[in-house]
Amino acid sequence: MSGTKLYEGKAKILFTTNDPNILLSRYKDDATAFNALKKGTIANKGEMNCAIASHIFQYLEIQGLATHFIKQVSPNEMQVAAVKILPIEVVVRNIAAGSICKRLGLEQGQPLKQPLVEFFYKNDDLGDPLITDAHVAMLDLATPEQAAQLKQLALDINQHLQTFFDRCNLILVDFKVEIGVDVKGKLLLADEISPDTCRLWDKAIADPSDRIMDKDRFRQDLGNIAEAYQEVMKRVLAA
Ligand code: UDP
Repeated sequence: MSGTKLYEGKAKILFTTNDPNILLSRYKDDATAFNALKKGTIANKGEMNCAIASHIFQYLEIQGLATHFIKQVSPNEMQVAAVKILPIEVVVRNIAAGSICKRLGLEQGQPLKQPLVEFFYKNDDLGDPLITDAHVAMLDLATPEQAAQLKQLALDINQHLQTFFDRCNLILVDFKVEIGVDVKGKLLLADEISPDTCRLWDKAIADPSDRIMDKDRFRQDLGNIAEAYQEVMKRVLAA
């Protein structure tokens, strides 16, 4: 019972529903990396990420965090609250990996002294550049109050996710979240939480390539991509 297509992103399609406050989010098997320079599909990813994200959103709701999740309505679809997504990608890092290593010369796998929150301007044409609070204010991407709330929310989400993934025998290296503003002006965790948006390392494996259980397997052509997602799903649903 999906309505008209509102927006198609790299990993999901958003549809309207009969209720203006509710949207339908359909998860796709498509995978992209490096600002969509690398494209492919991961077998069954839509269903796996929908199941993983649904479970994690419900977990976070139980912990008292507000999310856009309403309910899962099919293997690859969930109903979500209609929100205005802030054009900021909020990244939280516990361990150095990916872009911060290139940017600051840190060693991959180096634990950070404390969780680090970074803002990136959500703008594909510009390649999602790193921005500061001053840029957020200058570009009017959020109010200063919202920017402060975003940081605190990101740290709270990190704490809960670290606990959750630890139970799955996975190390939460870093992740990206997007935050929406609902009709009442309240901030809600939106988008998705999945191996597409989190770096997850198997706690029991020491080898730096073998332990990777997330989209880095796709980014780095490490093979066994769908198998890693499947294993994450199995552990998440059992946690
Ligand atoms: N990330 C994401 N979408 C993006 C960029 C990053 O979900 O458009 C996630 C990524 O999976 C990782 C974290 O955010 O878990 C930090 O990514 P990073 O800045 O290191 O960039 P990358 O190495 O992925 O280019």
